[in-house]
Amino acid sequence: MNLDNVIRKVPNFPKPGILFYDITSIFVNPLAFQYVLDEMDKLYNETQIDGVIAIESRGFLVAAPFALKRSLPLVLARKAGKLPGDIIGQSYSLEYGEATLEIHKADLTPGKKWLIVDDLIATGGTLQAVAKMVESQKAEVAGIFSIIGLTFLNYMDKISSYNPQTLINYEGE
Ligand code: AMP
Repeated sequence: MNLDNVIRKVPNFPKPGILFYDITSIFVNPLAFQYVLDEMDKLYNETQIDGVIAIESRGFLVAAPFALKRSLPLVLARKAGKLPGDIIGQSYSLEYGEATLEIHKADLTPGKKWLIVDDLIATGGTLQAVAKMVESQKAEVAGIFSIIGLTFLNYMDKISSYNPQTLINYEGE
């Protein structure tokens, strides 16, 4: 499976100068979706994971089937103001803008190893924010998974210690 052929690239979205890697084109293609899940399974076959944290919203789509298949708890990291319970939050800067993610505090069990999942790593700020929340609860990051890595944005400077894994990398636009 050549994922590059499947991923839709949209120039100047959501603002001028950004090349947007649109993974909705993976989800309309069941073979490509299955390929992503199979590759993810292989990557973490030998890794001890106690739970999965999915980042809103495209991270939910790969994290949910993975967690269910491995019978692991699935925790949602949501945009600010969406979760009704007692939350912890972390703000961070994006490739385009600022954002805050929140997690239900009671769901992030201390001492457990969490795999953090998103669709794409750009600057790494989003995943770093979630990793900080995990560590603030005295839990551990088991790893980071993302379908796409934009290596030219040097995300390794921020998150290399969490061993990020990707299925396809882009080294420049
Ligand atoms: P970052 O925190 O900079 O690593 O940004 C990652 C988040 O922003 C992910 O949730 C992506 O879905 C989204 N994102 C950032 N840049 C792009 C891009 N060029 N194409 C698609 N999604 C992007």
